[in-house]
Amino acid sequence: MSFVLVLNSGSSSIKFQLVNPKNSATDAPEVSGLVEQIGEPGGAITVKVRGEAFKEERDIPDHKAGLARAFEIMTDHGVGPTQVELSAVGHRVVHGGRLFSEPQLIVDQIESMIEDLIPLAPLHNPANLDGIRVARAILPDVPHVAVFDTGFFHDMPPAAALYAINNEVAGENAIRRYGFHGTSHEFVSQQVPGLIGREPEHTHQITLHLGNGASAAAILNGHPLDTSMGLTPLAGLAMGTRCGDIDPGVIFHLSRQAGMSIDEIDNLLNKQSGVKGIAGVNDFRTLRELIEQENDDAWLAYNVYIHQLRRFIGSYMIALGRVDAITFTAGVGENDVDVRADALADLEMYGIKIDPEKNAVRSSEPRIISTDDSTVKVLVVPTNEELAIAQKSQVIAEMAREAGLYS
Ligand code: ADP
Repeated sequence: MSFVLVLNSGSSSIKFQLVNPKNSATDAPEVSGLVEQIGEPGGAITVKVRGEAFKEERDIPDHKAGLARAFEIMTDHGVGPTQVELSAVGHRVVHGGRLFSEPQLIVDQIESMIEDLIPLAPLHNPANLDGIRVARAILPDVPHVAVFDTGFFHDMPPAAALYAINNEVAGENAIRRYGFHGTSHEFVSQQVPGLIGREPEHTHQITLHLGNGASAAAILNGHPLDTSMGLTPLAGLAMGTRCGDIDPGVIFHLSRQAGMSIDEIDNLLNKQSGVKGIAGVNDFRTLRELIEQENDDAWLAYNVYIHQLRRFIGSYMIALGRVDAITFTAGVGENDVDVRADALADLEMYGIKIDPEKNAVRSSEPRIISTDDSTVKVLVVPTNEELAIAQKSQVIAEMAREAGLYS
């Protein structure tokens, strides 16, 4: 059995999974793990092997030390990257800019192109690159593949991709809507036509990826028509800690009137806003507990979140003209029964009717939760970005082997 090692490197953490690309979306990976607090006090490495967790607390000076130690722990348990049949290493890369729509076999030139995109994603791409460099150095004989979070949205129509700002300034600074969570929107939306008995090229759909970060996408016959995230993942829906769409004038106001620096505003809008900004918590399970305790701020935060979600659903219904399916995915979308019910409440006149009993069923399987007579099908389809990255990486790795680049 061959595996793909999927790496998701952040600035102070690395998440990894050893995935069998033939898995179904709900199969647990063979091995998964997390290196956390890299370069900070309180570092830890956790490796889970077939459900059993092994945790080691130690200072981790950098990505290299963290990943090397994680590989050693995997090796101690017989599942090291050189002990299993490893067909590829798949790297999640946040920003592919205008350069990349498809996954890429990583060679030095691709690495430097990802580096060129750092100005567009100053927080994410450098960390992604760290992971790539370290993993390529430790595992030089395996094809490494970059899968871009923006890739799926690369060819969105210009009317949706362009902002109505000065053309010259936008062009010089590569300012446009790129969209994120592309791997998830693509993975989920590809399953929908089969689940509702339609041809992919005749399916109009809305996908709602509601995790800590959240985004909506309108997908017309397999091609993205619009999405809620923009130049950065800050735009669109209200999220766990991100503000989503606000008047850009808020930024000038905070700078001029409140005297905040750009970095302070960045931190405020990315980390101290969204549901957390209003209710003080960003985890939806905690938010739900607070709502049950009749906490006013929690209720308000929830209503802002739902209102924003409905605004996007409504605008995408019009953009698509006809909607065949609306699909919920990611942590909140897959698990929060009330978010799904409230996001689509009172839309019978548009042919959208959730079946409360089907909606209440807890399951990790893809499922339809609308009534039989709902003209728009409503679904829950679990996402699995790691599996999607593994599958894409496997394809590219096979091509690289066929071309004689790897044995
Ligand atoms: P990330 O964007 O970090 O990948 P996830 O897709 O894992 O996030 O989603 C995280 C969110 O999902 C959190 O807000 C969490 O509270 C929420 N969530 C997870 N399980 C449940 C649940 N059973 N009920 C409600 N919300 C849940």
